[in-house]
Amino acid sequence: MNNNPNNQRKDPDYFIDPRWPDPNGAQGARNNQNRQTKGQPRQNQPRTNRTQPNNQPPRNTQPRRQTQSAQTQRPPQRQNYPPQQRQSYQDTYDQFPPVKHRSRQAARKAAGLIVLTVIVLVMLLVSVMIFITRCVSGEISEKPETDPPVTTPEVITTEPPDTDPVTTAPETTSLDENYTYKTMTLDDLHSGYQILVNYQNAFVFDSSKFVIKPFYGNKNLSYKVRDTLVSFDKTALSWFNEMMAAFEADTDRHDILVNSSYRTYDEQDQIYQIKVDQYSEEYASMFVAMPGFSEHHTGLAVDLTIYTDEKESKTFEDNTDYIDWMSENAHRFGFILRYPSEKTDITKIGYENWHYRYVGKPHAYYMKVNNLCLEEYIEALRSFTFDGKHLNMTDDEGQKWEIYFVPATSETTEVPVPKNYEYEVSGNNVDGFIVTIKK
Ligand SMILES: [Zn+2]
Repeated sequence: MNNNPNNQRKDPDYFIDPRWPDPNGAQGARNNQNRQTKGQPRQNQPRTNRTQPNNQPPRNTQPRRQTQSAQTQRPPQRQNYPPQQRQSYQDTYDQFPPVKHRSRQAARKAAGLIVLTVIVLVMLLVSVMIFITRCVSGEISEKPETDPPVTTPEVITTEPPDTDPVTTAPETTSLDENYTYKTMTLDDLHSGYQILVNYQNAFVFDSSKFVIKPFYGNKNLSYKVRDTLVSFDKTALSWFNEMMAAFEADTDRHDILVNSSYRTYDEQDQIYQIKVDQYSEEYASMFVAMPGFSEHHTGLAVDLTIYTDEKESKTFEDNTDYIDWMSENAHRFGFILRYPSEKTDITKIGYENWHYRYVGKPHAYYMKVNNLCLEEYIEALRSFTFDGKHLNMTDDEGQKWEIYFVPATSETTEVPVPKNYEYEVSGNNVDGFIVTIKK
């Protein structure tokens, strides 16, 4: 084998494992020397060698040349060292090389830092995801809170007219078995006991179906009438008779006088012109309706005064007993004080304690109890549609009533009416029909 003394190693830390064979001899020693002179890091070599099993040739030829050549060049003084000491030193060196040790620690630190960074990044990502999902869910939960005030009022105000039975064709609508349809015309819209006649809604003479009769010959003895021509609606007249009989029974008086009731257009025009001539147009319009806009055209309104047995004329204004009794009892007979003092802003007519209007018992009762004038009541009834909630009430005499409103359509309107109950249908003279059921 090659044994070149020139290849002796000067490095005392250098170690050659004598157990390794030398396949290349001097060539390996030269290579080894060249490496040393070039300053190649030494620590890599022993580590590579140590990874090889002792009794087997190393797979890597490079370290094998080094060790073999170095073995042959081992200096004599080196042989004095105990091989075990060198071995253990080298073992320690290999197992814990300073550089390697630091690099492992650094690697571990780096790995730990990487793991920490990854964990932090994952936590950040998760928190960002949670934040985004909360934002999205927050927007979703906020929308129902903000939208309903905007959308629901519109739905409420716009849908009822669209879903009312008026717009749905009667042929396609299936009614409850307790109801049937009654066809109402435009004439019917302007007739009936709940028609509203005021400064905005003229009375339609040609549409009127009221049966006008004179008081004279149809009245009882509980009251008086101005002349034989004063006339009233037939139904309203019979209720007026009952009311005056009750008044006489309660007060033992029979001196209420019907001063004025039904008026034609010309009669109203004459009265209006007289008031304009006597006072002014402003005053006349305050207490006398324009021709065509007077409730007296309907035959459902009366103006009352007092005419005593001593042939003395008095007004209601001077006799609060009459006013009080009428105010407390008129509704029991279907009459209302048409122009109350606190409703002049709505009626546009000054307080008339002598003017009473027949509307029917349940309607008069409801207005009395709820302190509504006719304008307010007609408006309130519009919310009690047939498809919606009906106005159910029991009056102060224990009678039950059911009332609902049906908006008018074009020429005819199919109004649902009960099959098994007594009922009335009245136009409101504006936009629909009022069904009154006695139960
Ligand atoms: Zn009047």
